[in-house]
Amino acid sequence: MSERLLNEIIEETAELVRRAAHPRKGTIRVSPEVAALLDAVAPAPGRSVDPAAAAELEALAGKISACTQCGLCEGRMQTVFADGDPAADIVFVGEAPGEQEDIQGIPFVGRGGKLLTDIIVKGMKMRREDVYICNVIKCRPPNNRDPLPEEIEQCEPYLIRQLELVQPKVICALGGHAAKTLLKTDESTGRLRGKWHFYQGIPLRVTYHPAYLLRSPGEKKKTWADIQEVMKVLRGEVQPSPPTSETHLFG
Ligand code: URA
Repeated sequence: MSERLLNEIIEETAELVRRAAHPRKGTIRVSPEVAALLDAVAPAPGRSVDPAAAAELEALAGKISACTQCGLCEGRMQTVFADGDPAADIVFVGEAPGEQEDIQGIPFVGRGGKLLTDIIVKGMKMRREDVYICNVIKCRPPNNRDPLPEEIEQCEPYLIRQLELVQPKVICALGGHAAKTLLKTDESTGRLRGKWHFYQGIPLRVTYHPAYLLRSPGEKKKTWADIQEVMKVLRGEVQPSPPTSETHLFG
């Protein structure tokens, strides 16, 4: 193909893209497959990973893989640190690894993980690689039982450091354990969802855990409503701000 013809094709394609672009934001919607192809040719300008933070996250993953602070280390095949982009704008926090996660060493790869991936890819039109996914607990509890309060307490510093290093724009807490750990509350997921909370100043939305959605598919529409609010923050359409504390001058 001649250089002239190639340039004409590029110019015509650019014109088509310009016409298809959102008039105000200048963005276009493409399928995850097309986004992956484009990204391979010219990576999208996003938040870049701070090399020091990336190195510390790696070191933290290594430290966790040798952790014996609670009894869960005895039954695990391996620890499950995180999946995705350490420079992601959004972090999903789940509960604890299940059987498949314990085998593969990657969070949310079982049935619940497939649903979370569908939410990200089909619902949010993002790639799973562009979000960051982790759990409160890094080892699988036996028979997938709920994590014990002391196990959460031992593991929580790892999650706190992970979130400090990733510094997302928004956090999505999946289910009660993530919400209660991050927000220090005993309220149910049902009562916590539907409004903005803040974790260290970062907007946090609580939604149902994918495993619960598999058992109660009727609740999926509520999760979709939660995810849409999260997407507004990711798109920069809203910027929830923490309530300012009131000053009581007279008692
Ligand atoms: N459930 C979770 O909370 N986390 C996983 O990684 C898998 C299932």
